[in-house]
Amino acid sequence: MNSGRTDTNSCIIIGAGMSGLIAARELQAAGWEVTVLDKGRSVGGRMATRRVGEGTFDHGAQFFTSRSDRFGQLVRGWLDAGVAEEWSRGFPDASGEPREDGHPRYRGTEGMTSIPKHLARGLDVRTGERVVQARIRSGQWEAVCESGLRLKSATLLITAPVPQSLDILDAGEVELSEGTRKQLEDISYDPCLALLALVDREGLVPEPGGIQIKDEPLDWISDNSRKGISRTPALTIHAGPQWSRAHYDADEKEIADALLAFAGERLGADLAPRVRETSLARWRYSWVTQPHPEPCLLAREEPRLLFAGDAFGQPKVEGASLSGLASADTLLGRTRS
Ligand SMILES: Cc1cc2nc3c(=O)[nH]c(=O)nc-3n(C[C@H](O)[C@H](O)[C@H](O)COP(=O)(O)OP(=O)(O)OC[C@H]3O[C@@H](n4cnc5c(N)ncnc54)[C@H](O)[C@@H]3O)c2cc1C
Repeated sequence: MNSGRTDTNSCIIIGAGMSGLIAARELQAAGWEVTVLDKGRSVGGRMATRRVGEGTFDHGAQFFTSRSDRFGQLVRGWLDAGVAEEWSRGFPDASGEPREDGHPRYRGTEGMTSIPKHLARGLDVRTGERVVQARIRSGQWEAVCESGLRLKSATLLITAPVPQSLDILDAGEVELSEGTRKQLEDISYDPCLALLALVDREGLVPEPGGIQIKDEPLDWISDNSRKGISRTPALTIHAGPQWSRAHYDADEKEIADALLAFAGERLGADLAPRVRETSLARWRYSWVTQPHPEPCLLAREEPRLLFAGDAFGQPKVEGASLSGLASADTLLGRTRS
């Protein structure tokens, strides 16, 4: 894909999250030449697992559910491959009441990244490559990375959060129709501040190891050790969207102290003396608040430009995965009943 001539069935995919990797596998299986570029150190995007000291933390997506047959097929493949497993059938809510509804909640076996790592096997995925612009040169796409890497392809599939995708295209002076740009600019996301805290006590979070608060100032607390992915007690604390927005740029210590106090109140324990180390993740784009109705968007022809990701169709891990499949369907001309 580096040479001047590009195959018509060649595609650069920006983003090695669930949508980008699933699309890449489908296209490669159909004989396409595919390269996936991601700015992250590892694959997975918001399916993110991080080590802090001896703890292992899922700090983006915590679990996923499966409602559709098509996604269910993918999930069965991951269960068979041993990269996903059922975590629970529900979590205690804000009042501490268990909320089991019969629907399995799945986790990655060694953290959520187990699944994207499995998907990336056998693909040409270049991590640590931040795309700074995508432009059209002689009727082809050219992706230009911060590192100086330049790749060409006939098709571009872009799966970064939409405001970041638009920045990449604007830097390359790519023209979009007014209607398409408006559809893309209408998409919005909430931020999420995620505190990771290594603590010296087991059992702070009740079984099955997560509390789904869905409120302000906290949205979620889990213990990754009870979840089964960390050797030592390791709390993930997600602030609610309003609190995250209001404190997004605040000092790390200020955010950490506040979130530990809120979580301690919720768990009935003074957390500050129990904490050995903390780390903060700032997700500017975490949950989609205003999606595009279709599972992908063909934004241009000749050369073709497609948008996909969790902002298209349904949200969450399931929506991102279905969007990856839908974008491959579009490019391969596959129709689905
Ligand atoms: C805190 C948090 C909690 C969540 N909890 C859940 C949950 O419990 N259940 C659930 O189902 N969903 C949850 N989600 C949502 C879920 O993680 C996402 O819907 C899904 O992972 C999105 O996948 P994606 O492929 O659309 O995007 P992403 O995973 O965001 O992938 C996009 C990729 O693009 C890359 N990228 C961006 N810009 C560039 C660039 N310039 N150059 C190269 N690469 C670039 C990024 O590094 C990223 O890897 C959560 C998300 C967050 C942040």
